[in-house]
This record gives sequence, C-alpha cells and structure tokens, in this order.
Amino acid sequence: MSVVENLSLEPRAKRQRTEPVINTSSYLPSSRRCRHWFVRYGICTTCKSTVDKSQSRAFDYLSHGLQLSHEAVAVTKHLTTLVSCSNEKKLHLVLDLDHTLLHTTRIPRLTQAEKYLIEEAGSNTRDDLYKWKAPGDPMVFLTKLRPFVREFLKEANEMFTMYAYTMGNRDYSKFILDVIDPTQIYFGERVITRDESPYMKTLDLDLAHERGVVIVDDTRDVWPDHKRNLIEISRYKYFRMNNSRHSKPYSEEKTDESESSGGLADVSKLLKEVHCEFFRVANEKEFESKDVRLLLQEI
Ligand SMILES: [Mg+2]
Ligand SMILES: [Zn+2]
Repeated sequence: MSVVENLSLEPRAKRQRTEPVINTSSYLPSSRRCRHWFVRYGICTTCKSTVDKSQSRAFDYLSHGLQLSHEAVAVTKHLTTLVSCSNEKKLHLVLDLDHTLLHTTRIPRLTQAEKYLIEEAGSNTRDDLYKWKAPGDPMVFLTKLRPFVREFLKEANEMFTMYAYTMGNRDYSKFILDVIDPTQIYFGERVITRDESPYMKTLDLDLAHERGVVIVDDTRDVWPDHKRNLIEISRYKYFRMNNSRHSKPYSEEKTDESESSGGLADVSKLLKEVHCEFFRVANEKEFESKDVRLLLQEI
C-alpha cells in the first residue's frame, strides 16, 4: 500500500526522496470542500467529519477500519500502477488458493486408500502435506501443496506484486499463508478473504489499475467483471472429490501432477510472457497505454 501510505498515513517528512511527491490538495476542487478520501472508523482523516459508509469502500484487510472514497480508490489504483511499473518494473498478480496453489480436504472425508496420508503429514518425510486445525474448530484438515508452488511464488515475486484472494475465511488463509509465505515476503498484508469479499471476487479491492493486474484462478465464474484479466489454471485435485468416482485421484495412486509441465509451470511461462510484452516499450511514456487484458487476448 505504498501509495496509500504516501498519500495519507505517513507524515510528509518520512517520504523517501525516490518516491513521487503527490500533493493531495491538487485533487481538491477550488471551493476546498473536503472530499473525504481517507476515512478511519467512519471519520475523515483530513477534516475529521463523520462520513457515510456508502461514500467509500472498506479496505480492512490493509488496515483495520480503513475506508477509501471511490475517487481515492481510482486515483490510488492509477498511481500505484504507474509507480510500480516505472520504479520496480512490476505488475500485480492476484492468486486464488484452493485448487490453484493447493488442495485442502477434511480428514473425515479421506477414503480408506487415502488414510496413509494422515501419518505422512505428521512425519518429517514430506514438506508438501500438512495436517492442521483452526483455533476453536474441532475439524482437522489436510492441505497438499501443488507441485512447483514454491518455485512459482519465487519467480512470480520477481515480476509481480502479489495478492492472495480466497473464498476461505481469515483463519484458513492465515494457516495457508504461514505455510507458503512464512516470512511474509510475497503477500504481506495483501490477503483478501471471504470476510472482506463474501460472494464474488473483484479487482475493486486490489489497489492497482485493472490494466496492470493478472488473475490466476481455477474458477472463472467467481470473477463476473474481470474475466479479461484472468488466466484460468487447470484445477488441482489431489484428494478424492465427490464427483471423481470413476478415476483414482493422485492421493490413491500415490503419484502427483508433474513439476515441470503441470498447471503452475505452464502458468509461470505465460506470466513471464505477459510481463515481458508489457515492458517491451521504447520509453516510459508508453507504459501508460499498455494493458494486460489486451496482451492476454493476444497470447
Ligand atoms: Mg479455486
Ligand atoms: Zn474530509
């Protein structure tokens, strides 16, 4: 949230010299009426007046109680993409968790032929299988990481600022993120769960302009408004699922998706192509007309 911080949350003196200095007053109308861009717990941070919730959007996942006006969201998105393109040569990447980076099941759902996994998850022999339970919930889960996921995140992090976006809840995302990003170098606070986004997924919650955001998700339908940003990855199914009665899952076969030609390896190649094409420009000015949605269409 560097642009947000620069705009409102950090004192001016703390800004680094390399960051562009953005004067928020230039966005105010000549009448100087406050437009309540940044609201915390219902109070505008600039003029201290109470602001109606309908005038802004909640960004609790970034900072508890934070709301941004629709205008602030639009400007922040625009600036974030400009700054991140020219300073870091990074685009934004929104990653689904379930069936994209991993597969989770409940222990009582395991078939007889899968029960050996409970013991394997508790041993030191595997670093891709985890047995866990959320606090206050008696249910025990098994999570299997998709082959290539660690390399995928490492490579993607070089080219993208990453968001995790899941229909799971906060406890679930916390467990998963502790496993795939224990030192928080990949996602930081950029984790959106069903607590913030209960029905459908939307890029409105990602503070970057849609022209610079790629989504990787196995479920197309949860993105009603942003399908043009989407790379639909093949669905990773490790454990037996209700609808897979006829073919044996990887778990029962004691095999797995290929590291080198599985879903994540394929998507990784595509992401490199998109990144490379986006930054194939003659001068900085050209970034402003680049759009991943057009590139994804071509590729
Ligand atoms: Mg999914
Ligand atoms: Zn105000």
